Amino acid sequence: MMTREELTAVLGAPLGEAANDRELFAAAVEVRNRTVGDRVYLRGLIELSNRCRKNCLYCGIRRGHLGVERYELTDEQVLAAAERAWRSGYGSVVIQAGERTDGAFTERVERLVGRMKTLSNGELGITLSLGEQSRETYRRWFAAGVHRYLLRIETSSPELYARIHPADHDYDRRLECLRALREEGYQVGTGVMIGLPGQTVESLADDLLFFKALDIDMCGMGPYIEAPGTPLAAVEAPFSRAERLQLALRMIALLRLSMPDINIASTTALHALHPQGRELGVAAGANVMMPNLTPEAVRGDYKLYDNKPLQDMDLQGFNVALDNGWGDSRHFALRRLNVCVSAESQK
Ligand code: SAM
Ligand code: SF4
Repeated sequence: MMTREELTAVLGAPLGEAANDRELFAAAVEVRNRTVGDRVYLRGLIELSNRCRKNCLYCGIRRGHLGVERYELTDEQVLAAAERAWRSGYGSVVIQAGERTDGAFTERVERLVGRMKTLSNGELGITLSLGEQSRETYRRWFAAGVHRYLLRIETSSPELYARIHPADHDYDRRLECLRALREEGYQVGTGVMIGLPGQTVESLADDLLFFKALDIDMCGMGPYIEAPGTPLAAVEAPFSRAERLQLALRMIALLRLSMPDINIASTTALHALHPQGRELGVAAGANVMMPNLTPEAVRGDYKLYDNKPLQDMDLQGFNVALDNGWGDSRHFALRRLNVCVSAESQK
């Protein structure tokens, strides 16, 4: 693993000189191809609802953002999207939404997971990204058939975390959730936003060390993009949008080099900043993409930030892995194997 100083030096190299990054990206791609292969795994993204009980200062669907038309997909819409993913050979879906913790929501997700498993003969893999929940809820959803969970730490700096969230949001609580997910048996994914107001390259280097220390299985990180009408959009960001894109690509490449066998997503926010953003993410070492399967009529209402792409993803030109299982994290599989081997050797 590179040291904090080495990571900072790479991240802090003059921005705008993309040619300097070529060697870094080539090294990351070589490591990816050697460890997890050269194909890109697909997860169909289903944005279940934009209702949220939280008020994160950066997010376009925060509770306090009154201009947002709130929606909730029907069961039929969710199941149709899941079936489309399965029939298209994607292997898995990600269900994402604003955070809700009420009993009706917990039960609905549990029921939907069961029905998605049934309609796909148990073949469809299911990832959730539904925020902070109680251990009991995580346990119930896991028992229903979910096996991966994405919960971004947003920034590994507790001070910066406090500055981009209202006072009732708690960094330690988020860490506890990440630990609970691991203990409940999930493949755990986290990530950060890159280029936040108040963020430095040293802090981004710390994010990479944080991922390693947490031994994550998956990562989804991308540039921070202002969401008009949110409190954070009024605060000047330290990097231009072009610089954030470049920093995000450096982060992907450095993470691939430090954690070769995890799954790393080429995120929608990259595409929001550049028409070939997802391609650039893959060319920097990512191996997962999430085509949006949310019904088009409401896609525009899940507007986390400015310029979020609404069109279907063009998969041409990508070496995608279709009909190829869930595309699980190799890192997770190896950790589980190691646990079994050491338990066996202690007998
Ligand atoms: N509510 C769940 C949660 O917060 O984990 C899942 C949905 S939330 C919209 C998914 C991610 O969107 C967040 O983790 C955050 O990193 C990202 N996001 C929100 N606002 C953003 C912005 N302005 N720019 C970039 N990413 C943003
Ligand atoms: Fe809600 Fe997630 Fe947006 Fe925070 S980031 S306001 S929890 S949807």
